[in-house]
Amino acid sequence: MSKRINDDTSNQGLLIVISGPSGVGKGTLCKILLNRVENLFLSISATTRPPRVGEVDGRNYIFMSPEVFEEKIQKGEFLEWARVYNNYYGTPKDKVFQMLREGKDVVLEIDIQGAAQVKKNYPEGIFIFISPPNFDELKKRIIKRGKDSKDSIELRMKCAADEMKAALDYDYIVLNDDLNQAALCLQSIILAERCRISRNMELLKKLREEWANDESVHRLTY
Ligand code: 5GP
Repeated sequence: MSKRINDDTSNQGLLIVISGPSGVGKGTLCKILLNRVENLFLSISATTRPPRVGEVDGRNYIFMSPEVFEEKIQKGEFLEWARVYNNYYGTPKDKVFQMLREGKDVVLEIDIQGAAQVKKNYPEGIFIFISPPNFDELKKRIIKRGKDSKDSIELRMKCAADEMKAALDYDYIVLNDDLNQAALCLQSIILAERCRISRNMELLKKLREEWANDESVHRLTY
């Protein structure tokens, strides 16, 4: 991977919000993305949902009781939080802002309610919606995942219809029909966002100064 165009500036990192219906493949896509793009980090959410088989506290989620979660809401410790499928989910604020200050780009994999809160409080974020090719495929994927009860699957399918309507509030939509293609789209969005003129003003200023002050850059030397 080539060097970031704005590696040499003190710019804040980008906040990248990724949402989409349950089972659409956000988790898998984010994993591929984090492997492919340097200087990209995933925010670990807090949740009151019980861990699924194989999930590790602090790696997949920070698992906590509803009481502890509610205390953190009161203390304003979340950048956003929401009740999703009868459980609380939230993004720890301090950790995310610390990474952004350090110039790291941060991915939030969150639901549409949370994304709407982030958009209100942090409009400079980049909002990406992941869409399934169709509803039948989405249902198949949730069932195949085998991690949810029958009630939970039904609830997730019911919510998916509403979630699709929210896509209009996002900056980008990525269709997850082919995993590789979808990952490539995500990667391209992030790399293109990093190249925005508005995010590279320090670099431009430096280049312009160099060209204005250094006589030798105007001479041909063989
Ligand atoms: P799951 O229980 O399948 O891991 O996640 C259920 C839903 O909660 C997914 O749509 C996921 O994106 C969302 N989610 C995960 N973490 C957060 C978070 O920190 N905030 C919000 N608002 N949603 C989250």
